[in-house]
Amino acid sequence: MRFPLALTTKIAAYIIGQKLRGTKKFATVLQLEPLHTCNLTCTGCGRIREYSTSLKDIMSLEDCLGAAEECNAPMISICGGEPLIYPRIEALVQGLLEQKRIIYICTNAMFMRKKMREWMASQLSIQPKFVEEKSGELIAAGLITEKDAAGRAGGCIGTSTSMDSSGFTI
Ligand code: SF4
Repeated sequence: MRFPLALTTKIAAYIIGQKLRGTKKFATVLQLEPLHTCNLTCTGCGRIREYSTSLKDIMSLEDCLGAAEECNAPMISICGGEPLIYPRIEALVQGLLEQKRIIYICTNAMFMRKKMREWMASQLSIQPKFVEEKSGELIAAGLITEKDAAGRAGGCIGTSTSMDSSGFTI
């Protein structure tokens, strides 16, 4: 299945709800770009060329969460630039989870292992069983090494990860 059942069900329920209310136009996905800057300069990247004048701009956390609230789309795709260099990415994800959104992070994955380690570290004392299980899943998927997991004296991450021709989606 391309998308998890829970995700498909949530989107379907949202669309049906909008149709029943007679809403003519509504968003299903908000493409949130908290920043345009990127840690890479890929050949042919239109993004960093088109936004060359705003590479230093950055949205505040409050503006990001406010935009999601206002849009009310059930799914938020956090893009960039590179979203993992957004200084408040953890707080942004947490805030969107509290809004009960489905979150995609469109990342070039360069900082993913680091972020996973940091997250594992932050969660180990809070939910050790979950961290243990997710460590196993991530190792099996080849997303982290045994060494990374051993270093989770700092933590683990709960993520479903897939990769397509345009990069990672976590
Ligand atoms: S990772 Fe993406 S946004 Fe960054 S330079 Fe490459 S194509 Fe552009």
